[in-house]
Amino acid sequence: MITRNLQAISQRIKNACTKAGRNPHEVKILLATKTVAVDRIQLALQAGYTLIAENKVQELSHKYTALQQFHPTHHFIGHLQTNKIKDLLRYNIACIQSIDRFDLACKLHQRLQAQERTMDILIQVNTSAEESKFGVAPERTIDLVQQISNLTSLKIKGLMTIGLLSADREQARPCFRLLKQLQQQIRVVNMPNVSMSELSMGMSADLDIAIEEGATIVRIGTAVFGERNYPDSYYWNESATIQ
Ligand SMILES: *Cc1c(COP(=O)(O)O)cnc(C)c1O
Repeated sequence: MITRNLQAISQRIKNACTKAGRNPHEVKILLATKTVAVDRIQLALQAGYTLIAENKVQELSHKYTALQQFHPTHHFIGHLQTNKIKDLLRYNIACIQSIDRFDLACKLHQRLQAQERTMDILIQVNTSAEESKFGVAPERTIDLVQQISNLTSLKIKGLMTIGLLSADREQARPCFRLLKQLQQQIRVVNMPNVSMSELSMGMSADLDIAIEEGATIVRIGTAVFGERNYPDSYYWNESATIQ
């Protein structure tokens, strides 16, 4: 089932690229593996889909070792608390996609510097203005990128967003357009240490729209692994608890 779902996702990406006149090689599939058991993640890795991401450091720590034999590339896409940075850096993470505030970036930079490491990051933008979601406000994004660009161990590679979730998928399109506009505005400023090559946007429901609007990374969970038992608010909203 997972293999078939992955094939269906690849086909959706191809179709969206054809519609948008883009090359499918420009779009990477990232598997959002929160709540998914390691044996099922392994099936996806064996099928060749090796870019994966967790939302919580603790969940990553439980799964990490069992997945290493398949040589995955790990990103991190969840809300990151400053007191979890140290734990996260125990793992080989290629990119943290959810940097949304300067104090978090500073603390990450300090730890990386002490370890003589660098880290690719994306800046998470709250393009839907929903209070329950993390991310820097769109109008504050350029300033935040400018500030973080001074932290030499952090390599800003682009922007990430979660589009407005709605039964009408088209509601997400303005969010993706906004992220693309911000990318272009930041490119014009031409800051040292900042490349704006990646736009991480689009999930199971709206990946097609995100690709039409320029996504280079789509983050897919349910369309590959099925529905989750936890509500997304458990991962996206700090005050939420499991019922
Ligand atoms: C869970 C999650 C996804 C994947 O969502 P689906 O709707 O299951 O595809 C993408 N991005 C983030 C940040 C997530 O937490």
